[in-house]
Amino acid sequence: MDCILRYSYEFIKGFVYNRGVRGFEISLDEVLGKAESILKDIPLCDRCLGRMFARLGFGFSNRDRGLAIKRILVMLFYEAILRGDTSRLEEFKSIASNIGSEALESYRRLFNSTFEAPQCFICRGLIDKFIDDVSFRGLKLLMHYGVRRFLVGVRVDKNILEAEENLVLKYNLKYSESIKREIKREIGKSIQAKSSLTVDFINPEAVLIVEFPSSNIELTIASIIVKGRYWKTGRLISQAYWPTIGGPKYYSIEEALHSITKLMGAESIVIHAAGREDVDARMLGSGRPLILEVKAPRNRNVDFRVLEESVRSNSNGLIEISLEDYTRRELIRVYKEESKIKTKVYKTLILVEDAIGDNDIKLLEETFKNSTILQKTPLRVLHRRKEVTRKRKVHEIKCKAVTRNLIECLIKTSGGLYIKELVTGDQGRTKPSITEILNKNAKCIELDVVSVEAP
Ligand SMILES: [Zn+2]
Repeated sequence: MDCILRYSYEFIKGFVYNRGVRGFEISLDEVLGKAESILKDIPLCDRCLGRMFARLGFGFSNRDRGLAIKRILVMLFYEAILRGDTSRLEEFKSIASNIGSEALESYRRLFNSTFEAPQCFICRGLIDKFIDDVSFRGLKLLMHYGVRRFLVGVRVDKNILEAEENLVLKYNLKYSESIKREIKREIGKSIQAKSSLTVDFINPEAVLIVEFPSSNIELTIASIIVKGRYWKTGRLISQAYWPTIGGPKYYSIEEALHSITKLMGAESIVIHAAGREDVDARMLGSGRPLILEVKAPRNRNVDFRVLEESVRSNSNGLIEISLEDYTRRELIRVYKEESKIKTKVYKTLILVEDAIGDNDIKLLEETFKNSTILQKTPLRVLHRRKEVTRKRKVHEIKCKAVTRNLIECLIKTSGGLYIKELVTGDQGRTKPSITEILNKNAKCIELDVVSVEAP
């Protein structure tokens, strides 16, 4: 064995023994023997051959692996042929074109002719160009959407996958990896090398789906999830857009948030709030906790303060929001479920049919201190909710007479207690009620939510 051959032999032994140390029984003859058998059978490009031995060694690409193996094979053939081994000469003649360009020079010297290399059996010679082309276009697309952390997903034509699987099974190629895995890794690496973008397996901002060999690219942009709070300083404002034939029934928070959709170049925004107040109730004080889901934003890096200001001016100050932090999708479920049991404080202006005195106020405050309310589904929502009787808590009521017939009450409750019905009694469906305790008809004429505990 001459010097260069011995050197390459050592190189390839290096990655074979690497693996051996980690518990795999594998010999150099096995690697070269399998590679030779495969190439006698079918043509493979450097990368596709290297991929059959992908788990051997680190720090080089499958193309490097395939190239190393092919060169060694050619060197061994040439050495044997020079020694006068005629059967190796015949074998080399039949395998050379499947090896491809690495065998060309030796072939020319031995046979004084040349050959046309057939297309790679697995990738049809497309994979290198595919990786270059798709990484370039993928990077452009990711940058267009301002994505910094991404993930690559791969779809491969099923005939190609089948051909590869059959090859792996036929030659028992324990050290191979799939073409999908290679494409995924190589495109990720290539995009990272050309930019400041990074691959993120846990929380990517976008998933780039690439299709081999068609080169189709799809980009799925992850929503941005932000938690914050909202305030409603006016009445007759709904939380969700409320369409009717003649236009929206009320101005809505959803409408006010269109300014965010615009600024972020998003597809849409979904509001996940911790409950909702009646259309005619204001949301003041602490504001109501909410999570905003900004879908498919083109501009991911907008200052929260700019977004808040845009909502304020878009709604003429009727809606205000404060955005606190980015959060995870899982929190949406928590907001929906836990908001039902969290503490809320309401401020209500109550009109009472007859005059009320200090004793009435005292009676209300004492009766409702840590009280349990049994509330049947209110008549006004019965058309859209099924009839049930709920048990709710009132922690405390504080009242103040405004005029002889008008009292202002702060009501601290937990859970989804209907406050208007707590005042009127809803024809005996809410017990006890302010009407019942005062024994005078009472009606809520203004309602504000002043505090909502965050989940
Ligand atoms: Zn190939």
